[in-house]
Amino acid sequence: AAMRHLPYFCRGEVVKGFGKGCKELGIPTANFSKQVVESFPSNTSTGIYYGWACVRNGDVHKMVLSIKWNPVYKNIKKSVETHIIHTFKADFYGEILSIVILGYIRSEKNFSSLEALFSAVQEDIEEAKRHLDLPEHLKLKEDNFFHLPESKRANH
Ligand code: ADP
Ligand code: MG
Repeated sequence: AAMRHLPYFCRGEVVKGFGKGCKELGIPTANFSKQVVESFPSNTSTGIYYGWACVRNGDVHKMVLSIKWNPVYKNIKKSVETHIIHTFKADFYGEILSIVILGYIRSEKNFSSLEALFSAVQEDIEEAKRHLDLPEHLKLKEDNFFHLPESKRANH
């Protein structure tokens, strides 16, 4: 298994990424702060994962998550970025993003073109959607982690 402890619950602030996000491609990724990234087990494999995500206390949506080596830190630290499969009316920098990671799709890859990257991401999204419709994964959408009032939320 790519991550030993799935499901993996995590919550933290959405920060600015390196600006080279994929928003132009229609696949924005909400980047977690350095503190959140550092709270991940250090042996967490890079690659693409799927799970559920919720901004502040909003609805819970399907997501694909990418964990990769971060060039900003000379590839000695990782970045953790969530693409939520939902169209939002506005950006949500500074908001608290809650996620649960449920499974692994593939390892990190380099693509020769934006088109190749884009079509791989589309396939990742389709695969994530299929997995998340399974009863064992659907039940996590209703987990208390996403639905407790702010004051009762433990900081995982
Ligand atoms: P950055 O490099 O700052 O992360 P991105 O191009 O990756 O920029 O865009 C990410 C930002 O887009 C998020 O921080 C969030 O505020 C916004 N956003 C809007 N819709 C989504 C979505 N469906 N999934 C993730 N982020 C989204
Ligand atoms: Mg991003």
